[in-house]
Amino acid sequence: MRDCVFCKIIAGESPAKIVFRDEQVTAFYDIHPVSPVHILITPNRHIASVNQLTEEDEALMGHLFTTAKRIAAQEGVAESGYRLIVNTNAHGGQTVFHLHMHLLGGSRMKYPMG
Ligand code: AMP
Ligand code: ZN
Repeated sequence: MRDCVFCKIIAGESPAKIVFRDEQVTAFYDIHPVSPVHILITPNRHIASVNQLTEEDEALMGHLFTTAKRIAAQEGVAESGYRLIVNTNAHGGQTVFHLHMHLLGGSRMKYPMG
């Protein structure tokens, strides 16, 4: 999709530190990390947010989770722990409207959220 920063990264038209990619998803370091490990995992196909998901995307969303698990292990935070976040629209704090999962780790997360 034109003018989508994550579509440009996925297409190789914008720079990013890519840590994993396959035919369904791409993962890269967040440009403004809020924890020692802060990676974004995104479907290669443009989906604006969780609100646009359909039943046909269920396998893709499952793959997003198993990719997160694989990257957590790769980054050495699987045992210490990590947080997966998907923000949606204004109240969720979404700023980039290409669905993505944040993988945060390497330090203890604050709780409660919200
Ligand atoms: P969200 O607020 O959930 O939409 O998260 C968007 C995230 O994308 C933020 O954490 C930004 O720091 C990150 N971000 C925005 N532009 C880029 C970029 N060009 N490369 C990597 N991360 C980005
Ligand atoms: Zn996009």
